[in-house]
Amino acid sequence: MPSFKTPRGTRDLLPPETATWSRLERLAADLAARYGYRRIETPLFELTDVFERGVGEVTDIVEKELFRLAPRTEESEAWALRPEPTAGIVRAYIQHGMQTWPQPVKLTETGPMFRYDRPQAGRYRQFWQFDIEAIGDAGPAIDAEIIELGTRFYRDAGLVGVEVHLNSIGDAACRPSYIAELTAYFEGKRDALPALERERLGRNALRLLDSKDPAMAALNAAAPRITDRLCDPCAEHFASVRSHLDALDVPYRLEAGLVRGLDYYARTTFEFYVAGREGQQQAIGGGGRYDGLVELLGGRPTPGIGFGIGIDRLILALADTGATVPPEPAPVAVVVGADPDDTTARLKVATDLRAAGITARAELGRRRLGKQLESASRDHAHFAVIVGDELASGEVGLRDLPAGTQKLVSLADLAREIGRAHAAHRHGNTTD
Ligand code: AMP
Repeated sequence: MPSFKTPRGTRDLLPPETATWSRLERLAADLAARYGYRRIETPLFELTDVFERGVGEVTDIVEKELFRLAPRTEESEAWALRPEPTAGIVRAYIQHGMQTWPQPVKLTETGPMFRYDRPQAGRYRQFWQFDIEAIGDAGPAIDAEIIELGTRFYRDAGLVGVEVHLNSIGDAACRPSYIAELTAYFEGKRDALPALERERLGRNALRLLDSKDPAMAALNAAAPRITDRLCDPCAEHFASVRSHLDALDVPYRLEAGLVRGLDYYARTTFEFYVAGREGQQQAIGGGGRYDGLVELLGGRPTPGIGFGIGIDRLILALADTGATVPPEPAPVAVVVGADPDDTTARLKVATDLRAAGITARAELGRRRLGKQLESASRDHAHFAVIVGDELASGEVGLRDLPAGTQKLVSLADLAREIGRAHAAHRHGNTTD
């Protein structure tokens, strides 16, 4: 027999861990809604061009990590799995004429992303992102809104010590001269550059600031800083983002080297880190302003800003800080029966309870009543519903397992009775 396993860099999400995923997805959806971001779902794959233009060809994501789908002979189009959501969302913004909607269009999407990366801790080939995008607002206030939303998500998720790293990388007016200066700086150090960085230098000097190679740390620390060379409008924008963050009491750290790997960013860039774990691999989320992207993908010039928060890394960070996984809720009622063979009656009673909104499990094994009751206790159920001879007169036994009491209840009253008693029990018992 072959033994099949998940592909390298992917994993199965299993209970009880999936309960944490559900909780974070709900939290993301609730928070996004509270801030006025509405859900969008884009395909898991797009034309490769969307990513090559939208993310930039001189980026790791496109150069090395794009999951390209093998073309079928009858199809001439090249597709790739999405490595990040922004390019697809902007493609949708243009395709559906969202520039005619009231601006900004505030959208959220949470789902899997794919990067053909070298797998390691916290770096997977399929991972999940909670994504927020506001398209059609040049900021700076909305930049602060989005950064604050990110920090609140972490806080509500239970992760403490999250730091915001913040930078501005200028725009089309001031960045080209900065890049020329940066290129000249690195040209002067050519001999000290690792081979890969030397090769990148001619194509995108900003990428060197982003380098994960330790040999680059000292060179980067001494490199010219974009924030000292912003044009007046960019400097003003950056100062205003900071003063809005101050007004919202969101602390941040200025990081001149924070340029992010993606070509389409302009002005505000930011990343989220857990304090003390700022290694290059450890960003737990990040985002920025992409004022050139809509135009790059064929739309009218339109500003935009967003973030992607990695759910996998958030869960790893929560585990690192010792946050415990909340126990999964026990069934409220387990339906057991005196006649082991009468699975129909047990299933019917459980089905009616579920239809009435009660979390119920039916014992469907053909075991003696004693064994069935034992399994109800093992489940930490609040009630055992005992189906016996009284069913003929429309009644079942209702045993309160923790209290050890039992009474007959008519089927017509069962769900109401269980609902009322369970609510009272939870009220009086906060550890439940
Ligand atoms: P990026 O677009 O690279 O800034 O990614 C945004 C966030 O997604 C990161 O901060 C991580 O939390 C998460 N992320 C990116 N790549 C991976 C990966 N290969 N595995 C797990 N999480 C990732």
